[in-house]
Amino acid sequence: MQDCLFCNIIAGNIPSQKVYEDELVYAFRDIAPAAPVHILIVPKEHLCCLNEAKPEHQMLLGHILLTAQKLAKSEGIADSGYRIVNNCGENAGQTVFHLHFHLLGGAQFTKLV
Ligand code: AMP
Ligand code: ZN
Repeated sequence: MQDCLFCNIIAGNIPSQKVYEDELVYAFRDIAPAAPVHILIVPKEHLCCLNEAKPEHQMLLGHILLTAQKLAKSEGIADSGYRIVNNCGENAGQTVFHLHFHLLGGAQFTKLV
């Protein structure tokens, strides 16, 4: 997607602080961190949001969660705890329409649910 911010970050056209990359996902530090550790994990395939995921993406979605677990360990927040957030659509406040999961940690969060 030519005009998609995260597709351009994945392609290297826009700089990012890369944390991890494999054949399915790209992970980088959020430009406006909401916590001491704030990493975005995005699939390399462009999906606008969780609404676009299909049964064929089951493996990818599981891979994203296991990547979050791996990065939580490497960032040193696995034991203290972390939160994974996906904002889908307007009411959730999604601003970048390329599916992504926030990995947040290094601080005590207020409980949402
Ligand atoms: P969301 O509001 O869930 O769509 O999340 C989008 C996130 O992307 C926000 O937390 C932004 O701070 C982050 N963001 C926007 N532009 C960039 C960028 N160029 N590099 C890293 N993170 C970004
Ligand atoms: Zn994209």
